[in-house]
Amino acid sequence: MNTQRLREIPQVDEVLRRGEFAELVATYGRVGVREAVQNALEEMRGAILAEEAAALATPQPHTGLLARVQTILGEKRQMSLRRVINCTGLPLHTNLGRAPLAEEAIAAVVMAAKGYSTLEYELDTGERGSRQSHVRALLCELTGAEDALVVNNNAGAVLLVLSALAKEREVVVSRGELVEIGGAFRIPEVILQGGARLREVGTTNKTYARDYERAITEQTAALLKVHTSNFLVTGFTAAASRAELVALAKTHHVLAIEDLGSGTMLPLWGEPTVQEAVSSGLDVITFSGDKLLGGPQAGIIVGKKHLIELIARHPLARALRIDKLTLAALEATLRLYRHGDYLERVPLLSMLRMPVDELREKAEALAAQIGNLRGMQVQVMASSGQVGGGSLPGQELLGWAVAILSPLGCMELLHKLRQRAVPIIARLEKGRVLLDLRCVLPGEKEEIVEALASLAAEVPA
Ligand SMILES: *Cc1c(COP(=O)(O)O)cnc(C)c1O
Repeated sequence: MNTQRLREIPQVDEVLRRGEFAELVATYGRVGVREAVQNALEEMRGAILAEEAAALATPQPHTGLLARVQTILGEKRQMSLRRVINCTGLPLHTNLGRAPLAEEAIAAVVMAAKGYSTLEYELDTGERGSRQSHVRALLCELTGAEDALVVNNNAGAVLLVLSALAKEREVVVSRGELVEIGGAFRIPEVILQGGARLREVGTTNKTYARDYERAITEQTAALLKVHTSNFLVTGFTAAASRAELVALAKTHHVLAIEDLGSGTMLPLWGEPTVQEAVSSGLDVITFSGDKLLGGPQAGIIVGKKHLIELIARHPLARALRIDKLTLAALEATLRLYRHGDYLERVPLLSMLRMPVDELREKAEALAAQIGNLRGMQVQVMASSGQVGGGSLPGQELLGWAVAILSPLGCMELLHKLRQRAVPIIARLEKGRVLLDLRCVLPGEKEEIVEALASLAAEVPA
């Protein structure tokens, strides 16, 4: 029995009286240090008991106590929401926060966060203004819409639009567009939440205008088109065009609404642009601020003036309202689009359009820096990535990446990279750890090199 060793575990108060711990108290405060010491001593007790069970030899309860307490204190101090380095090659990685903002948007967020602003204040009259005024005109100009309203996110935008325009009535949707976006956002359920009734038409692969037409009754509020942002329907398929839906809606005095999802303003990637959707005559269109637009998380609603006004007056509009930091970032991002320098200034667009040659050069440069590290087998290889964030599902992002084979094994290497002070998130492909540099920001490559060098140093010679 090791009761002797358990007895050697010191008392918390005795530890706190030691000189080196008194210094920690000065930095972290008595309560925090006491708690950390208790945790460390608890761990020690657990370790002795575990070792006893495994019949292992002499642990030394006093060594490393200070270091362990320092680590615990450091971990407690650390923010839970932390910067990571995105080596996955997915520019819109949802779990990593979708896209970084443009410098101009960051500056606007800082301005709005730091002090007071004209959030809802009219400088001319000194009276109350609308927070929507900062982006309404910009959105109308950029999209060609009559009016616009922004809310917290696109899921909220869809819910709000349906609640305001279709409550207790029917919404007609193609069976091919009853999509799930992720988490609990599924179109049938959102329609239900909005207080409307879903009227499904057509089939999974083919829905014609006549299917919508047959479903229209006195009960119909709207024909809803949902962009299949995160999957592809290919092969024997058919869908009603926007023009057909708009014409039908007009004839039958119902609304034509589209949830565009990604909402790009650029005619790239074969995605429908917001401008295209607006000019097709749809009554209301919703899209995300932080997908292909490359701005902050936001839900953007554009459309006919009388409808936008109706939506803005719904109680949910207040519940889903956009906050000032998001609004600042959104206005700054939209201004970049208006001034025409978005291609260079919006990080997402630079990442998506990064030339393959540039990616190859970046990968080769990194490989050269880490190629000689002990035990690492490094190779530059062509890679095929995705946009992520439920956008452009069929779009391959062709690029180059650095593939690593290490004696640690892939899972362990990935794990160790994630455990860094600034975690590095890499991808596993074909039995190798892949570092894709498409989404690696300036200055981060050096951090990657440093991380790999310190991991290599751990590998036995
Ligand atoms: C992404 C998406 C949403 C949800 O948008 P968020 O901005 O993530 O809330 C809704 N509908 C479609 C079609 C989407 O692609």
